Amino acid sequence: MKLYKLLLLLPALFLLTGVQAQFPRFRALAFYSENVEGDHVLFAHDAKAFFDELNSGEGLEFDFTTNMDDLNDEKLKNYDVILMLNDQPHTQAQREAFQRYMENGGGWVGFHVAAYNDRNTNWPWFLEFLGGGVFWRNNWPAAPAKLIVEGPAHPVTRGLPETFVSPHNEWYQWKPSPRERKNIRVFVSLSPENYPLGYKDILPDGDLPVVWTNTDYRMIYLNMGHGGRIFSDATQNYLILNALRWVVSTDKKGNPFEK
Ligand code: ZN
Repeated sequence: MKLYKLLLLLPALFLLTGVQAQFPRFRALAFYSENVEGDHVLFAHDAKAFFDELNSGEGLEFDFTTNMDDLNDEKLKNYDVILMLNDQPHTQAQREAFQRYMENGGGWVGFHVAAYNDRNTNWPWFLEFLGGGVFWRNNWPAAPAKLIVEGPAHPVTRGLPETFVSPHNEWYQWKPSPRERKNIRVFVSLSPENYPLGYKDILPDGDLPVVWTNTDYRMIYLNMGHGGRIFSDATQNYLILNALRWVVSTDKKGNPFEK
């Protein structure tokens, strides 16, 4: 058979071999609040637009809610992954539902203030979940920063350059650094070249993990999430999609992208 004829047959072969995924591939529920710091609301609106585009062409279900009480067993059982765009569980019932969801294999992608905790948070499980780091300090005003990509062999960092400049963000530093925990894997960190970072509030030095996972759970945290420029960089968008895809693909029920 001539090569061109073979090539013409390829689409038909593709269909015959049943490479047809089940739909929806996965369901995601993104939580956000309209009643938080203005720059965090801005981010949530941009994130909603960014992730909502994944819905186009069907195949995915990406829902959004401003009701934190949707953190309950009945609602969560419908979702492969939840996102926290600018908020976190508050009431005891919400916290317990979240903990059960994660301990039973649920997926979590958290941005920026989703990991904020201090002496008033009073939620020891959450602190362990995040790697033990309490919010310590930040730069102000928001600023771009050079980031270092660690471990390029992982699906989260695959295809990324060794370093890139991330758009304006308020960078949080944690104490102690989550990196000190054995079950924390850091994917991206702030380059020391940025120091001192800030004008009003200054980050002077130290380790500053930006993206990491707790290997005991199906989760990833990204510190990006302040202001309206987070999605203005293609490299960073690529990282965010890698992160979501990795969490979804490690579902105990199987990788929905391979069905
Ligand atoms: Zn912020």
